[in-house]
Amino acid sequence: MADRYFVDRPITGDQARLSGAEAHHLTHVMRAVAGDEVVLFDGSGAEFTARIERVGRSEIELAMVSRSVIDREARVAVTLGVALPKGDRQRWLVEKAAELGVARLVPLVTERSNQRESAAGLEKLRRAVIEASKQCGRNRLLEIAAPEPLEDFLGAAARADCRLVAHPNGHPLSRVLDELAVADPQSVALAIGPEGGFSAAEIERAVAQGWQRVDLGQRILRVETAALALVAAVLGRVAGG
Ligand code: SAM
Repeated sequence: MADRYFVDRPITGDQARLSGAEAHHLTHVMRAVAGDEVVLFDGSGAEFTARIERVGRSEIELAMVSRSVIDREARVAVTLGVALPKGDRQRWLVEKAAELGVARLVPLVTERSNQRESAAGLEKLRRAVIEASKQCGRNRLLEIAAPEPLEDFLGAAARADCRLVAHPNGHPLSRVLDELAVADPQSVALAIGPEGGFSAAEIERAVAQGWQRVDLGQRILRVETAALALVAAVLGRVAGG
């Protein structure tokens, strides 16, 4: 796939401008010059071929050559609620979730993990989403929501056709996936707990609100492994995932 660059405002006319890290990369790493063609996307679902018109000190001006809507989204809208791990593991989780096709990620505030990501921390995660989308070809960005208390997430996700909460000793994954294939949902919400796990009360609340507990096997997985294993299993089981 050709090098792709993200424009952080909707591309509507026949001109676009790259600035910041994107312009820096194109100028100083790729050594682009006027006349070169590149691929742009703006998160709207379309991608654009554009010709560089002017390379400035910190900005690049481009003229649009063509626009095409290319859908590389999963057929099922997956919302992933997860009590994020710390540091690099958090960034890795978000990057892989974007690659796999998760539509929305909600950092969960739970009984056993009540830290909330700072605005700067969330911004770093959004940057990780852009980097992953440039690489994997997604033309829509995985949305990183503001942190939500688990209780709010459990209620808000009621709109999803299918809701699964990962918890050891839940229903076997194979059975849950078989049911999912039959139900053929348009939207799925998943909840993954913190390193200390969900409390019994949290699980009771989830089940009372129609969430199904799902077991991911005999080994206890770290948060990011559990999240990505469940996303991959769900999307792998739904046609066109
Ligand atoms: N001691 C904790 C417990 O028993 O729940 C382990 C928590 S685990 C490190 C973090 C989260 O990943 C869990 O809350 C759960 O959502 C998910 N998880 C990890 N391994 C799992 C498994 N084998 N089955 C279901 N969920 C799992």
